Amino acid sequence: MFMDEKAFFTRILGIKLPWFVNQVIMDEAAQRIDIYVDHERDIRVRCPECDTFYGMYDHAPERVYRHLNTCQMETYIHVRPPRVNCPVHGVKQIDSEVGENGSDMTYAFESLIIRVAQECSIEATARLCGLSWDRGWNALERAVDRGRARKEHRIPSRIGVDEKSIAKGHKYESLVYDIDAGTVEFVWDDRGQESLERYYRQFTKEELSGVKAVAMDMWDPYIAATKAYVPDAGKKIVFDRFHVMKHVLAAVDEVRKSEHHELSESGEQTLKGTRYLWLWSVENIPLWRRGEFEALRAKDLQVCRAWAIKENLRHLWDYRYEAPMRNYFKRWYFWATHSRLQPIKKAAKTVKAHIDNVVTYARHRITNALGEAINGKIEKVKRMACGFRNRSHYRTAIYFHCGGLDLFPKPPTNPTLCFRAT
Ligand SMILES: [Zn+2]
Repeated sequence: MFMDEKAFFTRILGIKLPWFVNQVIMDEAAQRIDIYVDHERDIRVRCPECDTFYGMYDHAPERVYRHLNTCQMETYIHVRPPRVNCPVHGVKQIDSEVGENGSDMTYAFESLIIRVAQECSIEATARLCGLSWDRGWNALERAVDRGRARKEHRIPSRIGVDEKSIAKGHKYESLVYDIDAGTVEFVWDDRGQESLERYYRQFTKEELSGVKAVAMDMWDPYIAATKAYVPDAGKKIVFDRFHVMKHVLAAVDEVRKSEHHELSESGEQTLKGTRYLWLWSVENIPLWRRGEFEALRAKDLQVCRAWAIKENLRHLWDYRYEAPMRNYFKRWYFWATHSRLQPIKKAAKTVKAHIDNVVTYARHRITNALGEAINGKIEKVKRMACGFRNRSHYRTAIYFHCGGLDLFPKPPTNPTLCFRAT
């Protein structure tokens, strides 16, 4: 292979005439290579709007793109993209064949950053790729913007709405999932009605009528937003079974706490260390604690009754039709409200107030369990980001990791230059 370094780089960069490598400068001390790409003089330039070739107008200022390292040396590509003066579209810059307009990285380098960032925290990505945090972050933001611009405008037919706390306790984000695709479609600050309405407002009434089911928590602002925008929402909202159970579980825990308190006053430690025994579903109680659990159940404890009521409610979701589901609930409700356990009565009333959209489960059979899976991913995103500097960073990271987006930059498929003769 006899080639000088210009021919060599032209070849390995895959640069095609009329483009060529004009100069290669290696700075050994700085461990850096600068490659200057130029084009033949006798060319025509493609208008990016109408794809017609015209004579060259002038050059845009030089752009410098960071490229994949050449061996261990940081490598930069310099290019001055020509501009075209289209009679219809005016003076236009062309996409460089090396990297996107507005980016300081080649297509190949930017794609590498995205692949690394899919596996690592942004800190690690920046460190591994020899970038500042900000430049690494910019690449992520460009990837998300690119992906969202390419995303098809459509509302999924089955969506899940969930809230996610971001700082311990107080700050919330609203998330909309595509239940079937397993992607996050939308993230917005807060968990008020307005947050969810922002999502719905992107769609026409006709598009919104394509929504078949919406899984959510028993949370008034989400209910109100969905009723305001989704036609026939009353039949489509399904309160998430795990959230419904959570209310009852909290009640069981309250019963245990106050009973434990009473018992300890008289010196009895019967319920000490038993919290999870009552919260676990019966099949999840670890083998080694089953004996202990059976012994407790033999005693006449309030928490035992609360536990039995909780376990029975779980069967509500076994029904395949709404009418028997309602009947089952009625019997359960009677039992719960006659239990003489205040927290259980209160939880039962909350569920009853929402029962119309609990039993919609029979038809739609959706939960936010997918949301739980995505929540796991989001927890990982949070850890990987080690403290987003602001909430818009957090949103970007969620779209990046959970949005199911096409994130990668793509070189133009048609040549941007041609020889005048052709
Ligand atoms: Zn044009």
